[in-house]
Amino acid sequence: MRRKVKPGIPSLRRKMKDVVKIRALSIHERDQLLKDKKFASFKPVQCNDCGFRDNFFIRLFQITGTRIDNEDDQAFIQYHMNQQHGFINMLFRVSGKKKYVETAFCGKCGSNSIMFDIEFTDEILHELSRLVKRPPDRVRKELEQLASKLESGMSRQKRK
Ligand SMILES: [Zn+2]
Repeated sequence: MRRKVKPGIPSLRRKMKDVVKIRALSIHERDQLLKDKKFASFKPVQCNDCGFRDNFFIRLFQITGTRIDNEDDQAFIQYHMNQQHGFINMLFRVSGKKKYVETAFCGKCGSNSIMFDIEFTDEILHELSRLVKRPPDRVRKELEQLASKLESGMSRQKRK
């Protein structure tokens, strides 16, 4: 069982054998990864601060030596990202066997508070259709219905 440790410097809580590496992808590596349609279909769509939708600067980091699927590990990485790179909003993503942290900045105001969304490309629809064993057209229809339900739900809430 895991011992409960009081919050402090997260690196101190880790065992020696966990050598966590966080490496920024080069622009070339980033562009290669974003060519993966499946990976790139989940992408920045709108700045939460100024509403800009046109272009976003994406930064990606590869993570090795730790899991990223639980809150402890995510908090650990978040702490280091904030300390070393100065941003707080990030997504934990997996592509194949590789783990990444993705963050985006608004092309207009530079904000790091960016909304991400899935773009339903044909590839994504076919993949979903295989998973749920329903024809792609029907999956598309259901997703559209779900999206409009979510959107009307969100507009009822106060938006920042
Ligand atoms: Zn902005």
